[in-house]
Amino acid sequence: MVQKFDLAIIGGSFAGLACARSAALRGLKVVVLDAKPDPGAQVRTTGIVVKEASDEFDLPARLMRKVHGVRLYAPDDRSLDLSAPGYFFQASDMPGLMRWMADEAARAGATLMYGRKFDGGLEYERGVVMGDIHASFLVGADGARSRVAEHFKLGQNRNFLVGLEIECEPLAGVDDRFVHCFADSKIAPGYIAWVVPGVGATQIGLAASRPARLDLGGLLKRLNPHANIRDIRVLSRRSGLIPSGGVVNKLGSRRVMLIGDAAGMVSPVTGGGIHTALHFGRRAAVLICEHLGARGIHPVDALVREAPRYRAKLVLRRVMNLAPPNALINALLMTGPMRTLAQRLYFHARGEAQESFAS
Ligand SMILES: Cc1cc2nc3c(=O)[nH]c(=O)nc-3n(C[C@H](O)[C@H](O)[C@H](O)COP(=O)(O)OP(=O)(O)OC[C@H]3O[C@@H](n4cnc5c(N)ncnc54)[C@H](O)[C@@H]3O)c2cc1C
Repeated sequence: MVQKFDLAIIGGSFAGLACARSAALRGLKVVVLDAKPDPGAQVRTTGIVVKEASDEFDLPARLMRKVHGVRLYAPDDRSLDLSAPGYFFQASDMPGLMRWMADEAARAGATLMYGRKFDGGLEYERGVVMGDIHASFLVGADGARSRVAEHFKLGQNRNFLVGLEIECEPLAGVDDRFVHCFADSKIAPGYIAWVVPGVGATQIGLAASRPARLDLGGLLKRLNPHANIRDIRVLSRRSGLIPSGGVVNKLGSRRVMLIGDAAGMVSPVTGGGIHTALHFGRRAAVLICEHLGARGIHPVDALVREAPRYRAKLVLRRVMNLAPPNALINALLMTGPMRTLAQRLYFHARGEAQESFAS
């Protein structure tokens, strides 16, 4: 028997669940389909949430841990402490956060179908049919390699960073006031490596522009002076692609729309996409609701106008893809202009630190 919905969402992660909750609260009949067996499974992200997202969304404090500063290391191990007044990042218990978001979407009235993979559908004038499901509108929130984008011939991500992370039992010696970032073209060409004092765990990871090889062993050796690497007890491993080419060129069609990583809504410089996934997940719900209910402006047209452009960040991404030699990073990283640039990247337009991290 065909089940009829106003909105079907492929992908039950940040973008899809934010969209589902908001659309269901606004009265739409919503279904979420996700291939993974349960919301907390197959985590791919470090899960650092920027302050802007914490301001915009009420995320449960028990699943988060605030970190106020960034310690940025040059390849020669000199370091720079960065912060901004009132600013913080939040590390998160990712499986817990995903389960909480799924519960919230279900509580709002959305139907969640985990363990259900999207592999195609038929778009026609009045909606989309996928086997036994009919929806008036379909949202593709299915991540960097979106099957929805591919199937409906929408814009697809072409450029990626590749990321890899291990989550370990809390590691002694890690200064937990900072997210530790390592600029090193030998270990993480085109991006950085990181150590995050997370929620009940330490996260150690790195990313690089594809097709570079990720040198996790090199990173662990590099961390030796800073933490007790020999005592590492790995709890889980995560890896995934991060779109780095900006927003895709075709965000939707008459009855289908892309959001989150599927739409390329990820900062090409920092690789951060959680805030945009949450923001545009919710926005998509509002736009679709207005369109279906009151025949408002087409949601894809509205989304195209609102989507981030990332113009300067795309230029900077091209420079980063060149993976400057470590000697150059050593020479430049501690200079005033680089400090200002790093401050802007991590803390956006906010001012210099007034906070003291002296122990
Ligand atoms: C290693 C790594 C570290 C990162 N760290 C950070 C960070 O610290 N902070 C930050 O802001 N961003 C980070 N990012 C980016 C961030 O994870 C993404 O921008 C964010 O998860 C995007 O959310 P999304 O909902 O759009 O997609 P995703 O989180 O990728 O979710 C897509 C969902 O779609 C489902 N799916 C996929 N295909 C199908 C299908 N065919 N049928 C059904 N379901 C399907 C998947 O199971 C998944 O649940 C990181 C990324 C990686 C890879």
